[in-house]
Amino acid sequence: MKAAYVVDECKVEIKDIDVPRIKDNEVLIKVKTVGICGSDLHLYKGTHAFRKPPVILGHEVAGDIVEVGKNVTKFKVGDRVTVEPHIGCGGCEYCEKDLVNLCLNKKAPGTPGWIGTFAEYFNAPEEVVYKIGDNISYELGTLIEPLAVAVHAIDRISVSEKDTIAILGSGTIGLLTLVAAREAGYKNIICTDTQQFNLDMALQQGATLALNPLEVDVVEKVKEFTNGRGVDVALVCAGAPGIVDQASSMTRRRGEVGIVAMITEKIPVNTYNFVFNEISLFGAMTYETKDFEKATEMVNEGLDLNAFITQRLPFAETEHGLSILDEKKENVVKVIIEVEK
Ligand SMILES: [Zn+2]
Ligand SMILES: [Zn+2]
Repeated sequence: MKAAYVVDECKVEIKDIDVPRIKDNEVLIKVKTVGICGSDLHLYKGTHAFRKPPVILGHEVAGDIVEVGKNVTKFKVGDRVTVEPHIGCGGCEYCEKDLVNLCLNKKAPGTPGWIGTFAEYFNAPEEVVYKIGDNISYELGTLIEPLAVAVHAIDRISVSEKDTIAILGSGTIGLLTLVAAREAGYKNIICTDTQQFNLDMALQQGATLALNPLEVDVVEKVKEFTNGRGVDVALVCAGAPGIVDQASSMTRRRGEVGIVAMITEKIPVNTYNFVFNEISLFGAMTYETKDFEKATEMVNEGLDLNAFITQRLPFAETEHGLSILDEKKENVVKVIIEVEK
């Protein structure tokens, strides 16, 4: 079968490899669509924290089950599915608390023992496989994974007031976090981005205010909007040198700042805001199983995320898809690769 490898910095090659052999508890999926994620871009550019070339891209996937292991009970051949792409060790203190995202020995696609999803076939144990509805497209099924990241980010918030939330950065994760905040009942959602296209999309998806930090003083505008009080919560969904300071400067006293973006460079943080205003800081790492279940349910119940899919490319153009996301010369939110059309 064909699989898309990052073989070197900014170099993708489609190689021929064996179809994975499934274990008794696994299913084999004929891959229909995969999504390009920020972490794939890190891998492509050589800045990923733990994935180093040569490795198969991808962790977002939807397709059809074509084979089931003999111990599989929940699925049959022909089921349309997506995958929660991490497997806990089952034995560590975090697995015991159902925090697979924090497992000390978790397995993820593109690490030893599990291939990436940018391949014609992908194997997964049945406990991380989820059915997608008959009327749900494969590409929407592929968006369940990034939506789960957004659901988890909102779930990590401890502040109970849902008056105003700020989402800094309106790429795929920022926009899906806007959707998750909207569905969770936040009254006012303020989004920021440096691209007008993304700001327009935020407004179309229910943002109350969309601000471009290159054009306005975002903190000042947020303070104006909230009558000087500041937002209850600010979520950092993009990387930029001053972005955590921006978040803490627009947050009210005893509010919260959450970091969702994987910012691989060190950035300066002014701790004073956190102390003076007693602001709490949290991180949000991928998702727990309950978040993935919720995201699957939202999509299966008809949540419309089609607007976020801005490019659809054939498998052979995987490298082109990565460069679109990297260079941002054209309007882009989510790039879907059609492995099998
Ligand atoms: Zn992803
Ligand atoms: Zn574990």
